[in-house]
Amino acid sequence: MKRCHNFNAGPAVLPVPVLERIREEMLCLPGVGMSVLEISHRSKTFETILSEAERRLRRLLDVPPTHHILFLQGGASLQFSMVPLNFLPKGGVADYIVTGIWSEKAVEEAQKIGQVNIAATTKEENYARIPNQSELRLSPKAAYVHFTSNNTIFGTQWQREPEVGAVPLVCDASSDFLSRPLDVGKYALLYAGAQKNVGPAGVTIVIVREDWLEHIPSGLPTMLDYRTHVKHRSLYNTPPVFAIYVVGLVLEYLEAQGGLPAIAAANAEKARRLYATIDAGDFYRGTAERNSRSLMNVCFRLPHPDLEARFLKEATAHGLEGLPGHRLVGGIRASLYNALPMESVVALVDFMQDFARRHG
Ligand code: PMP
Repeated sequence: MKRCHNFNAGPAVLPVPVLERIREEMLCLPGVGMSVLEISHRSKTFETILSEAERRLRRLLDVPPTHHILFLQGGASLQFSMVPLNFLPKGGVADYIVTGIWSEKAVEEAQKIGQVNIAATTKEENYARIPNQSELRLSPKAAYVHFTSNNTIFGTQWQREPEVGAVPLVCDASSDFLSRPLDVGKYALLYAGAQKNVGPAGVTIVIVREDWLEHIPSGLPTMLDYRTHVKHRSLYNTPPVFAIYVVGLVLEYLEAQGGLPAIAAANAEKARRLYATIDAGDFYRGTAERNSRSLMNVCFRLPHPDLEARFLKEATAHGLEGLPGHRLVGGIRASLYNALPMESVVALVDFMQDFARRHG
């Protein structure tokens, strides 16, 4: 059994020590006599797993006591609907900053519920960059401003959050959550599917400010009302027990790595090496503008689509997997999430240099 270098965009690589721990505990959680797949979500064991995961996340990300942490289902995609259902009132308007397909999808869902103002979009430029602060056309009375911190498909990332004054800030942080420190206090709500940096598919983390919940209208379907999940501490119905257990193990692993400053430094170094290889000659061309480049998803092209096909085929033969760009954009995309080791980046860089020498 040989593990490949896994550059998948999500679900994605997990830390090996976490996978080993899962394997060790699969038949029998220590002292419980059952697998985590078999326990009740109402058991003391699961309550501990859930509260530990929450406690670790709060510590790791320095989540202030003003904010609740929720573990929900339905993916980040359900948050596209839940956010406006809960926080876009009749007669109000929400600002959306559109920097890729996932922002577009968030807009589509919000438009089904209320009025949306596109505060900025870089669609005309093929989403190759993040807009500047001066380009944002924010509505002074917006119910909230929504942005996507990292654009998984186009490989761009906000270097810091947009400035929105007193308007509540909402972020889809699915593809860079826990990849670097974040000032959670600046956000009214932040959501992220776990399946990139934090765990397996099946759980979505939502962090929401307590005082914002007062704006939620009554009469929403129970499961779509954030207050339900706050009140029941993510245990209103059966939560994704296994996914939350794995998230807990990943959080423990991230803490042991030295927390988010250490993780961010490692991520920056991985991305630096790969971008340096892209920039070293004319053969590879990064698709994102330099000051908008993502540290998580590195997207690039080769001189010709035939060469890209060949690149991908040879990469697979070298044990480098998950490199095709998203089907909507093509090209190459290397996702460098937290759990991707430096040795995988080194293997990719070596392969790229050799490929360019042979085909450049
Ligand atoms: N937002 C972003 C930034 C994403 O990358 C993705 C998934 N790749 C989604 C939202 C959708 O997430 P999910 O599949 O969990 O609904």
